[in-house]
Amino acid sequence: MTGDVQRTSNDMCVETGNGVDCEQAVHELYHYLDGELTLTRRSEIAVHLDRCGSCSGAAEFEAELRQVIANHCRDHVPDSLRERIAASIHEEQHRHGSNEPGTD
Ligand SMILES: [Zn+2]
Repeated sequence: MTGDVQRTSNDMCVETGNGVDCEQAVHELYHYLDGELTLTRRSEIAVHLDRCGSCSGAAEFEAELRQVIANHCRDHVPDSLRERIAASIHEEQHRHGSNEPGTD
């Protein structure tokens, strides 16, 4: 034992002075993008994103990703296909269920 303390990733954190650090900003990013936060909280996160390059990059990426997924789903998954997928999943579950050995 040398007493050498392992350095944590906290070293990289940017404190923006409004109580939001990187960990919190990233943690609440999804809620932020979903519009689930209060106005106060949103603006606190927004200030952090404004000052913190790594978090704003993550937010931009996440927002873009969501847009791509949303567009992709809307364009390429018609209701009929969705129903077929749901049906095949149901069938699969049913098959697995009936395969279970009965305990008499
Ligand atoms: Zn940050």
